Amino acid sequence: MPSRPACCPVCGDLLDVSSYDAAFRMPDGTELLCFAVPGSLCATCSQLYVEPDLIDALDLGEGRCIFAIESDTMLVERASS
Ligand SMILES: [Zn+2]
Repeated sequence: MPSRPACCPVCGDLLDVSSYDAAFRMPDGTELLCFAVPGSLCATCSQLYVEPDLIDALDLGEGRCIFAIESDTMLVERASS
């Protein structure tokens, strides 16, 4: 069984499966940077979906992705304020 969703569970767009440099906000308010994390990105929602096993391995716990860019390219997906 594939462990990754093929489509975004929120908006239904196709996910872009690649490696990402990502920042996660932890429940205590700190931020955790992870590099070259395999994941599935929804460009529409700017949300990175990481496999549960990897979340455990990185000790992300309840951390939520706040920023992700694809590692392989110079493409920047930045949430502007
Ligand atoms: Zn989405």
